[in-house]
Amino acid sequence: MQSSTFSICTLGCKVNQYESERIIQDFLSYGFELVDFSDEADVYIINTCTVTNVSNHKSRQVIRRAIGRNPPALVIVTGCYVNAFPEELRELDGVDMLIKNEDKPHLAELVVGKVSPGSSRESHRVSPRPRLHTRALLKVQDGCDRFCSYCIVPYARGKPLSISRGRVLAEATRLAEAGIKEIVVTGVNLGRYGCDLPNGTNLEGLLADLARIPGLARIRLSSIEPLDITAGLITLISSNLIFCRHLHIPLQSGSDEILRAMNRNYTGEDYVGIIEEIRDKMPGVAITTDVMVGFPGETEEHFKRTKDLISRVRPRKIHVFRFSPRLGTLACSLPGRVSFDVKKRRSAELIELGEELARDFIGGFVGRRLEVLVEKLVEDNLLTGLTDNYIRACFKGPSDLVGELVSVYALRFERGRLYGEIVGQEMNHEGSNWKLETRN
Ligand code: SF4
Repeated sequence: MQSSTFSICTLGCKVNQYESERIIQDFLSYGFELVDFSDEADVYIINTCTVTNVSNHKSRQVIRRAIGRNPPALVIVTGCYVNAFPEELRELDGVDMLIKNEDKPHLAELVVGKVSPGSSRESHRVSPRPRLHTRALLKVQDGCDRFCSYCIVPYARGKPLSISRGRVLAEATRLAEAGIKEIVVTGVNLGRYGCDLPNGTNLEGLLADLARIPGLARIRLSSIEPLDITAGLITLISSNLIFCRHLHIPLQSGSDEILRAMNRNYTGEDYVGIIEEIRDKMPGVAITTDVMVGFPGETEEHFKRTKDLISRVRPRKIHVFRFSPRLGTLACSLPGRVSFDVKKRRSAELIELGEELARDFIGGFVGRRLEVLVEKLVEDNLLTGLTDNYIRACFKGPSDLVGELVSVYALRFERGRLYGEIVGQEMNHEGSNWKLETRN
């Protein structure tokens, strides 16, 4: 008898991606077989997002697709949409189970018994073969209590909840032992790490501990709020080569008035000051950011301030969001709604500016040597990977370099890709100083 199959589709942020990976591991350990989401499966899991109305719409589309693909299959919906708007999902015909975020760790357990996992029809667990990647997400924190006025996340994820230092370090050690070279430290509000733990535990201390784990070559932070970037954190990540020169710091708006209405508690100049301090200590750093357009009351003048500020900060990448009223949030009832067409136009302008800045940033590394973590073979003999400062590079080389750090000399920038040639292989990160050469 064949194993039962399952499939998972993940929407939204890195925390959701991490949680999906854990669900996959759980199902594999029960003897289920993982199949593609476009295939027929016995169990479909949709890990939803609710950050915007578009996220809700996309989540519903994926759920309907799963129901239509194999009507007898068990369709399980989990994630932030379930926590925030369960009644909308209950109306969908064909959804068998709604599982809240806090119950995700037991999702597989809840399903075993409803669907036979494997040929033996027993539900004992085995250790699955690890799904090896070059990079792994490491969730250290959940929840947020900042209550930015537009954001539904605190309602969907609840109060800040940190994973204990011991559990985080044990998981990171296991990943390093499995051959993972890079971990991406992830949380709903990473900067709040430790606020609910005793003894002054904080993100800086946790990162310092993670940096000592043997075998890890890179630590990347997923996203951190401007006000959580302390002088100590900048000193730590700029003085140890294990930390990637890449920080995702949401800006949201360049207008102080709009930032105030968003309840963001910093000004545009505060943001510029933080970025300048980071650039001063980490030459070549890639700053990526989120910007929201069309917040209620956003005038052309406010939007111009955002564009001007972006032109000064010169981020490597901008994620542009259009304001979307989320029921239950403060901004949902604010006057001065911006029309769909204006939001669309402002969003297009920022995307265009972002693309221009990305070309400038990446093009500036032609003629320099970069450290690349090789991810995969894309074409015959052509490998690709990411630099620590978030540049995708392509170069010729054998496939057995996948998962290794190599030194690449950047030759040219063409159609969004940086092409180079391998000039060395960096197997031993410690004791090496070639990476410093890329930072002058
Ligand atoms: S910091 Fe603000 S935007 Fe980020 S999750 Fe918390 S409330 Fe939402």
